[in-house]
Amino acid sequence: MELIQVKEVSKAYRKTPVLKNVNLTVTEGDLLGIIGQSGSGKSTLLNLMTGFIRPSEGNVFYSAATGDKKELHKHLPKIKKHLGYTPHHNSFYPQLTIAENLFHFGRLYGLSKPTIKHNMEGLLAFTKLTGHEKKLAGQLSEGMQRRLEICCSLIHKPKVLVLDEPTIDLDPMLEQEILHLLQDINKQGVTIVVASHHLNSIEKICNKVAVIKDGTVHTHGLLDDVKKSYAKDHFTISLHHKKRKPELIAKLKSLPVEKMVDHGNRLEIYPNNVESAVRSVVKLVEDEDLHIRDMDVRSPSLNEVFEKIHE
Ligand code: ADP
Ligand code: MG
Repeated sequence: MELIQVKEVSKAYRKTPVLKNVNLTVTEGDLLGIIGQSGSGKSTLLNLMTGFIRPSEGNVFYSAATGDKKELHKHLPKIKKHLGYTPHHNSFYPQLTIAENLFHFGRLYGLSKPTIKHNMEGLLAFTKLTGHEKKLAGQLSEGMQRRLEICCSLIHKPKVLVLDEPTIDLDPMLEQEILHLLQDINKQGVTIVVASHHLNSIEKICNKVAVIKDGTVHTHGLLDDVKKSYAKDHFTISLHHKKRKPELIAKLKSLPVEKMVDHGNRLEIYPNNVESAVRSVVKLVEDEDLHIRDMDVRSPSLNEVFEKIHE
């Protein structure tokens, strides 16, 4: 089911256009990654989708509340009940404890004390913060602070969670931790929209991706479809005896190959057609008795796709 529809949305700050004619749909259960260069308008798009700012033109619609499509700004209080937002800077109060913060945010959403308590217990267990309720938020480790921030935006059990650069300042271990948490939240049935310039992170967790370029959503769709439409599969090969590499390179050049990258031990080959190229190479290796150490067919990375889009 379609949950959010961004329809022909444009946004200008004063007279400077930032986004033009953006169209984007989010389906229930999606884990959508929004990517784009710094300053491309990711945060602006999230702010439009969460109702923090109004479009200069166009509309954002939600079907989350009742099933029928409603315009966000006309039904903001109702729709906000179904929305959680995690900004990239922490918005909790460092001088309050974890429990006090969650009560504060729960009250903002109009929840009763027993409901907050109930939701809090589940969330703390889920984010492995149980037992730390009485600790001051400002004194928690960085990873725990990030988890608390996410708890604060989930206290009202929203259907949609929107996060702006949730892993921005985290070291790789903590980044992994947060990515896993987002996947788990998504598995619990929460639709997630996440803006990030960490393409590797997006690639690991998202089923869909939207690329912002030149002030608009340049491409969006299933991650695999977006990848396929911009870059082909390639394969890598490494030989046991490096001496024979020039021979292999010479032979490979006779195949319909678009690009070849020599990484020393490993050659990266981008043929027009991976399957037939791999077959030819296997035959070549046998015929010429070239001993290969390994050979691997790989899909394009989101990084490659991003580079192609920005060429
Ligand atoms: P991103 O999140 O992709 O880095 P932003 O949405 O933050 O991009 O910003 C997009 C553009 O809009 C930038 O050029 C930024 O300077 C401008 N911008 C963002 N917020 C405001 C604002 N409140 N007033 C004026 N310009 C803004
Ligand atoms: Mg931003």
